[in-house]
Amino acid sequence: MRKENKWLGRITKTGLNLLYPGRCPVCDGVLPFFREKGAREPRKICRECERKLPLISGPVCMKCGKPVESIHQELCEDCGTFFHAFDAGRAAFTYTGVMRQSVFRIKYGGRREYLEYYGERMADLFEARVRRWEPEILIPVPMYWKKKNRRGFNQSEVLAGTLSKRWGIPVCTDALACCRDTAAQKSLGRKERRSNLKGAFRLLRSPLPWKTVLLIDDVYTTGSTLDEAAGLLREGGAENLYFLTLCTGKGKKAVCTEKNVWYT
Ligand SMILES: [Zn+2]
Ligand SMILES: [Zn+2]
Repeated sequence: MRKENKWLGRITKTGLNLLYPGRCPVCDGVLPFFREKGAREPRKICRECERKLPLISGPVCMKCGKPVESIHQELCEDCGTFFHAFDAGRAAFTYTGVMRQSVFRIKYGGRREYLEYYGERMADLFEARVRRWEPEILIPVPMYWKKKNRRGFNQSEVLAGTLSKRWGIPVCTDALACCRDTAAQKSLGRKERRSNLKGAFRLLRSPLPWKTVLLIDDVYTTGSTLDEAAGLLREGGAENLYFLTLCTGKGKKAVCTEKNVWYT
């Protein structure tokens, strides 16, 4: 029975792949349908494009994970100046170059499939760290329901789903709700972002049954969204609040090259 299910799954997957071929999250080109020799699955990104992603590999802020200038700098300027409600968090890439285009196509071009690759990549990058943090639950940052209906998915939820499968940590999508549209955050400064987000989220469960929570989001900018969410979860009884995001605004003086992020 189990074997049959496996085959059925494979056939369905093959059929879906033929109907909706995978696309590269960087160049948006259609990816080869067949596996390369020795690979377990067909590629989810072109080989050359993978090298263009601005992977964070240098020293980062111990608190928010933004790139910093040297390993002697413990906190970024932002975390050194402002309070954050979360304990710590990390991002996989900087929100620069090809990553910006990629995120734009996910959000406004319906490219949900990119998230499959990004989720897998995040799972590889942060596995050891997450084992140390020991979260009991993954909570994706919620999206206003109208916005989610329009887009068809919440990118943080899709990422959390992949991470959950890989790490065996459950996802909870009904602990937090977003009760209004917080659109146009992009053009706002730190202060305006904070006041725009005040009261945007609501805690749906209290007290919460978890002490350690890992929040998942797509982009970290000033941290206002994660602060708002973490603050509420803390009110609900969570004690250790971590986050992971796909990308983060780059720290000062970080230069993005084709291959990587370097620090001057
Ligand atoms: Zn490509
Ligand atoms: Zn920081």
